[in-house]
Amino acid sequence: MTDLDRIDIAVIGAGLGGAAAAALLTDAGFSVDVFEQAPEFVRLGAGIHIGPNVMKIFRRIGLEDRLAAIGSHPDHWFSRDGMTGEYLSRIRLGDFSLREYGAPYITIHRGDLHAEQIGVLDKNRLHFDHGLTDLEERDDHVLLTFANGRQIAAGLVIGADGINSIIREKLLGIEKPRFSGWVGHRALVDMDKLRATGLDYERCVKWWWSQSRHIMAYATTNDASEYYYVTGVPVDSWDHETGYVDSSRDEMAAIFGDGAHPMVQGLIDSTTEVTKWPFWNRDPMSLWSSGRLCLLGDACHPMRPHMAQGAGMAIEDAAVLTRALSLTGAADYRNAFTIYENARKERATMVQTISNANTWLKEPEDPAWVYAYDPMTVALH
Ligand SMILES: Cc1cc2nc3c(=O)[nH]c(=O)nc-3n(C[C@H](O)[C@H](O)[C@H](O)COP(=O)(O)OP(=O)(O)OC[C@H]3O[C@@H](n4cnc5c(N)ncnc54)[C@H](O)[C@@H]3O)c2cc1C
Repeated sequence: MTDLDRIDIAVIGAGLGGAAAAALLTDAGFSVDVFEQAPEFVRLGAGIHIGPNVMKIFRRIGLEDRLAAIGSHPDHWFSRDGMTGEYLSRIRLGDFSLREYGAPYITIHRGDLHAEQIGVLDKNRLHFDHGLTDLEERDDHVLLTFANGRQIAAGLVIGADGINSIIREKLLGIEKPRFSGWVGHRALVDMDKLRATGLDYERCVKWWWSQSRHIMAYATTNDASEYYYVTGVPVDSWDHETGYVDSSRDEMAAIFGDGAHPMVQGLIDSTTEVTKWPFWNRDPMSLWSSGRLCLLGDACHPMRPHMAQGAGMAIEDAAVLTRALSLTGAADYRNAFTIYENARKERATMVQTISNANTWLKEPEDPAWVYAYDPMTVALH
């Protein structure tokens, strides 16, 4: 048997949640291997918000300063009417976030964030090209079988393998995620064209229309040299086999252009490449773990992205799961998994529900329950 044939903890999936779990568990002294189906990661054109609730975890991982240097620091999250530009709500971030919530609020390119997260992992314990195809729980281990033919015996298995999780399938049976009835267009805009509008683009703004249709737009770099938008648009169906399809400036204009505020029109005019993504859903799950298997992130509570907290919940899961295992020791994993679920289920379900309803910050409200939360100190029972 080689060393790798028998391991302590296997994290399946090196996405935003899995990479965080691997970093935190390793930092806490556990022996961890991460298995990722992709042969490598590429910098896809998309942005992401990282709230102060999550930056506190990156502080522990040692990435807070680095991410703060790369990302954009919006002073506010503005919500504005897509036609008139009227301000519907202004949520204070920037220095207020530091002072009141205990960490910065940033928006950043998703690829830059992920690259930093991958960069802190031990390369010898991160196994690309390892798509899990089967798993079987035995007396003292879980036998993992990968598409490349490899088999590994793991003491514990953490399913961070996203919305189509194979670990979830083992726990709860085969059930495809449901199409939510919404799609999102994603684009990094042409900055020369955006600047040529002469308009002063806010660092973080969500433009709203009726029925919660919207465009969320923000800078993804510290110097605001890159600007990104993602939409939320209700549609009748999603009939494509692929994960996303190409969209176009014309499609954007047809959906949002008629009577749009000049700043929205500027976004549309500055669009060169834009893609369209379906949003998938599941209901809150009855089971987060069983035996030696445990779920986190989208594998456990996928949601529409409208609260900008899906990855936040995955990374919070990783932090609390690590703390629970540190409390009990890996041998008492059943107790740890119970503590983890007790601490996480209500919050993750609440975020999932509000995200799916797409009401977050459309009107003035206090976001402190999301942003002031500290996963590194929250009480565990
Ligand atoms: C348009 C859009 C905008 C969003 N914006 C935000 C935002 O601003 N803020 C925020 O917090 N969240 C946002 N989210 C949500 C966020 O992207 C997800 O919630 C987050 O990526 C979930 O992380 P995860 O690690 O659970 O899953 P994933 O990121 O999906 O990672 C799963 C990983 O597992 C791997 N994998 C899958 N199956 C296997 C297998 N069988 N074997 C091995 N590896 C496997 C995959 O290749 C992948 O690397 C957004 C989502 C979308 C769609």
